[in-house]
Amino acid sequence: MTFSENPAGVLAAYCEHLEIPFRSGSLSWESRDVEHWDSWEGWHDAAEQSTGIKPATRRDPELPEELEEVYEKCLPYYYELAAHAIHARPRSGGAASRPVEVGKVPGDGQIAPHGGRLVDRVVRTEERQERLREARALPKVALGARALSNLEMLSTGVFSPLEGFMDRETYDSVVEDMRLPDGTIWTLPVTLSVDEERAKNLPEDSEVALVDGEGAPVATMLLRERYRYDRGREARLVYRTDDQDHPGVAALYRRGDVLLGGEVTLLRPPDPGPFPRHYYTPQELRATFREKGWKRIVGFQTRQPIHRALEHIQKSALETVDGLLLNPIVGETRSGDIPADVRMRSYETILERYYPRDRTMLAVFPAAMRYAGPREAVFHALCRKNYGCTHFIVGRDHAGVGSFYGTYDAQHIFDEFDPGELGITPLFFEHAFFCRECYGMVSSKTCPHDPSSHVFLSEARLREMLERGEYPPPEFSRPEVVEVLIEGFRH
Ligand SMILES: [Zn+2]
Repeated sequence: MTFSENPAGVLAAYCEHLEIPFRSGSLSWESRDVEHWDSWEGWHDAAEQSTGIKPATRRDPELPEELEEVYEKCLPYYYELAAHAIHARPRSGGAASRPVEVGKVPGDGQIAPHGGRLVDRVVRTEERQERLREARALPKVALGARALSNLEMLSTGVFSPLEGFMDRETYDSVVEDMRLPDGTIWTLPVTLSVDEERAKNLPEDSEVALVDGEGAPVATMLLRERYRYDRGREARLVYRTDDQDHPGVAALYRRGDVLLGGEVTLLRPPDPGPFPRHYYTPQELRATFREKGWKRIVGFQTRQPIHRALEHIQKSALETVDGLLLNPIVGETRSGDIPADVRMRSYETILERYYPRDRTMLAVFPAAMRYAGPREAVFHALCRKNYGCTHFIVGRDHAGVGSFYGTYDAQHIFDEFDPGELGITPLFFEHAFFCRECYGMVSSKTCPHDPSSHVFLSEARLREMLERGEYPPPEFSRPEVVEVLIEGFRH
């Protein structure tokens, strides 16, 4: 990871190393002129307050004479090296995304974003302060964790071509036909709900401020439409069930009665969240792929820690392309899932030892799980296309939960779309396991032996072992990963 690939990540890593707190606000800190030399002290205080970095104290160590000479000789070279050490690329800013013709690969050889252009709804740095000031005077709509995550993904282009929360026409079209009104494939609604009381006082065709849990404005929305919606219909068509035991359906029924539609503008830099070293916007990830010279990239979505089966699938896919993007989901998941920080540690541990550095990247997917099975599999693929992936791995029961979906539903849904319209190529995988007869990782597709030769653990059995601090067989999970998981269960 270099500074130009991921400035926020590198700074966060430095801060972690120096044991000082990383404040993402330091990235938006603006320098200013200092009129008098004697005001430097206050300048340092201001810098410290906004960055957490204390003013440097100069240390001139006493050197023995023979070293003094070396020091004098080396110093010019050091300065020359230092001058070339960091080439910062300006972070994304401004709504000036580059239009690209639909279906056409842009000149840089990368896959075109979905709908043709990468949406960028992050306010320009120079306009930020004024827009924030204006936002404070607007009617406020408070966002929960899920809505904030959607807002950031809309603003940074992960949900391209969407530019805001869906209006009624778009919502109906997506729920009924899995397409936007212009025909572009889009399988999941992205909506903002409020209760009736709040909706009443929000006039249409005017701006509202979207605020976080502390009431601070994070974005504005041009409110185009307020509308009521039919939860039962959304549940049946999107989730294929209206059973409230389904976590996605339950979340749907907890939402407000009125939806607000309109374009958003993010007024602060995208929030790298709890994993800043692994946070990239689509622009940043695409730039990194370009620097690495990767043309064909396979994306892997997961909400599981990494066992041998997943490693096998990832590496099998990597055999056919240039690069592997491990893109674990770190937004809200259901309470039974292993927490994101434990899963991320399992990835970090294993990447260092068993994955080729120049062909693998770990980046978080800061979305919430919806557990919408087939429809979410397509949605996951389209988001990865926006990140610059050309291929996407779809496993058995991808994004499913319980027994709400058939084993291959999430793979079959791709047949309903023209491959050219999708743009990204899905790669379908079976479950993998170790076979003692084959003596290797295989699947039901590649192994002719009886299940008694297979090393397999159910999720429940694995959990039981980990809770007791027992190690599953190394053919199932690498001991380094097990260590992280057992540690995770202790806390
Ligand atoms: Zn076998």
